[in-house]
Amino acid sequence: MPVHATPVPILKDNYAWLLQDSGTGALALVDPAEADPLIAAIAAQGGRLDLILLTHHHADHVAATELLRDRYRCPVAGARLDAHRLPRLDIALDEGEEVALGVARGRVIATPGHTRGHIAWFFADGAVLACGDTLFSLGCGRLFEGTAAEMFASLAKLAALPDETLVCCGHEYTLANARFARTVDPDNPALTARIAEVERLRAAGLPSVPTTLALERATNPFLRAADAAILGALRARKDNF
Ligand code: ZN
Ligand code: FE
Repeated sequence: MPVHATPVPILKDNYAWLLQDSGTGALALVDPAEADPLIAAIAAQGGRLDLILLTHHHADHVAATELLRDRYRCPVAGARLDAHRLPRLDIALDEGEEVALGVARGRVIATPGHTRGHIAWFFADGAVLACGDTLFSLGCGRLFEGTAAEMFASLAKLAALPDETLVCCGHEYTLANARFARTVDPDNPALTARIAEVERLRAAGLPSVPTTLALERATNPFLRAADAAILGALRARKDNF
């Protein structure tokens, strides 16, 4: 039974994600950084929270973790590698290990680059990928603690997931990313079509995500970079764009 993913807009341009196992109704929350809108979103889905998942230690992804753990008395799962600087973890995992959400299983994919201990969560049933600040629609995370080679390897791991994978990223950066992507790949019809779609969605006040891995492979210049040097050059250019 598939996992269903719903974005919850929080802070200025972040998304937390509610992931629901349709087999049991169990509910997980990814990257809880602001309590009030998340408490309201959980109430709208029945008022019970079973699991908190963290992608990385930045405050705009973890700030409300303790408050929500206390309120819902649910375990918090995150990267063992960054346990020392994440909120207290009840479940500390390494690459390849799994967490249970009802009858669904989420697998840890180590994605260093943005931060050293950054991870993504992949639920194969439902093809839901919660990837924090590693992969964005039409973009990728800044290299705060890692090299271009690390980010290239992390993106390659994500790119190897199935076409239909839903990319549930940590920010609504798509329009700004689109302005840059257009300068990299001006003659890509898939990119032109995606930009028009994103402009429509944002004008209507709707999220531009989740996107799919197939669409990102066709449009995202960072995912399309042929090697780490090209990715590094693109990232450096985007930092000053
Ligand atoms: Zn971050
Ligand atoms: Fe962030």
